[in-house]
Order: sequence, then structure tokens, then C-alpha cells
Amino acid sequence: MTGNGEALLLGGAAALGIKLEASQVATFRQLYALLLEGNARLNLTALKTEQDIVLKHFVDSLSCLRGHHLDTPAKVLDLGTGGGFPSLPLAIARPTLELVPMDATRKKIDFVRETAHTLGLSRVTPVVGRAETLGRDPEFRAQHDRVVARAVSALPILVELALPFLKVGGLLLAQKGALSGDELDAGAQAALEVGGRIQEVDEFTLPSLGDARTLVVVEKIRATPPRYPRRDGLPNQQPLF
Ligand code: SAM
Repeated sequence: MTGNGEALLLGGAAALGIKLEASQVATFRQLYALLLEGNARLNLTALKTEQDIVLKHFVDSLSCLRGHHLDTPAKVLDLGTGGGFPSLPLAIARPTLELVPMDATRKKIDFVRETAHTLGLSRVTPVVGRAETLGRDPEFRAQHDRVVARAVSALPILVELALPFLKVGGLLLAQKGALSGDELDAGAQAALEVGGRIQEVDEFTLPSLGDARTLVVVEKIRATPPRYPRRDGLPNQQPLF
């Protein structure tokens, strides 16, 4: 990462109210190099320029720290982490978080595991699997204080996949682009069905670029009925609302 990239990272993080130490910036520099190298082999991201990777992956991932829902130590599942977003930037910026990046694609999780190991992020424990399956597994169901999910499914689908992983009182932090009123309404109805309630809809713009972003916070207010999540693929094929 060049000096310009580091300035974009520091400025973007500062605009979100996050102060990064020099050692953390150095770890982001390493992550940047590993992502470029991994991308050449695994096609992890369509983003190619330094500015895009720094702002649209690193800073955008950190934007779920808005609202201070990840300020205290917590067990956090990252549903559909892909190449490690938001998990890896969160693990660098908030080393006390216990992060579980999860994805259905093994090669992506292998990359996240190797990368976390190389970066010394010891509280990151990646897992391969589908949310529909792991969400029924007692090792994962109702075991997490937070679920984060960036760019994964429309809100009504996402709440069915995510809420089973949360303890009652836990929060889903859904990182989305611009959100339509229809998606939000359907998401609110689906949330009620699976034991949740939309607590906050935080609309903001990505630092430097001005792209529209929405952080939807859903609180789990009661246990998810045992029939959810439905079997593999069904939440996508037949969304609840
Ligand atoms: N969160 C990453 C990011 O922001 O760069 C990746 C986003 S990518 C668009 C969506 C990811 O979610 C893919 O890697 C896909 O494999 C994963 N995914 C989608 N549905 C899933 C499911 N039901 N269970 C597990 N992973 C899923």
C-alpha cells in the first residue's frame, strides 16, 4: 500500500470516528498485499485499484463500528465473509473481538484462515458452511452476541439466515448499500417472524467517495422458532416476505 493508500485509510477511519495506531496501519498494509496476492489465485474481489480496496473494502468494513455496537468484547459471526470482509478489518481495528468468519465457499475460508494466521489475528476462527445448516447446529445456534453481514442477500432473506445465530438480546449489523423502503418493510416483517425487531436504520455516505450506505441494526428479542432457518436454498428461493 502506498502512502496515499495509508492516508485514505487513516482519513476514512477517522471520518468514522476510528483512530488507528501505526501498528494497525502496518497490519492493514500486510492485509492489502495478501489480498492482492490471493486475488491473483482465487479471484476474491472485483476491486482492483488501491483506492477501491482501501475505501470499499477496508473503510467500508469498518463502518459497522458506527453506532458503537462492537465496542465491548463480544463473539461475532460474520455471515458470508467472502474474502474476509468485514471480519479481517474488524479484527485489526478491534483486537478484543472474537470473530467467526463464515462462508459456504471453502477456498474463501481457507484464504481467510491463512491470512488471519499470517497477520497474527489469534481471535479469528473461520468456519466453512451454509448459514441454513450451521444455524441449526447447537455449536453455532444462539451462541453469538453479534452477527455482521456485508453485501449478503436482501434483508428479508438475511434476517432468516442471521437471527438463529444470535443470543436473545444480540444484534445483527447488516451492512448494505442504498436500501429501498420496500426491502426495509419486508425485512421488518421477516425480522418479527424469526424473533427480531429493527432497532436502527443508519444511513450515511462512505468517506471520500460519498457512496450511499445503510447499516441496519436488528435486535433479537425472542428465541427464533425452531423451523428457521429453512432448508438450504429455501430462504433465497422463497423469501419470508
Ligand atoms: N461479505 C463479503 C464482502 O463484503 O466482501 C462477501 C460478500 S459476497 C457478495 C456474499 C458471500 O456470501 C459469498 O462469499 C457467498 O459464498 C456467501 N453466502 C451467500 N449465501 C450464503 C449462505 N446461505 N451461507 C453461507 N454463505 C453464504
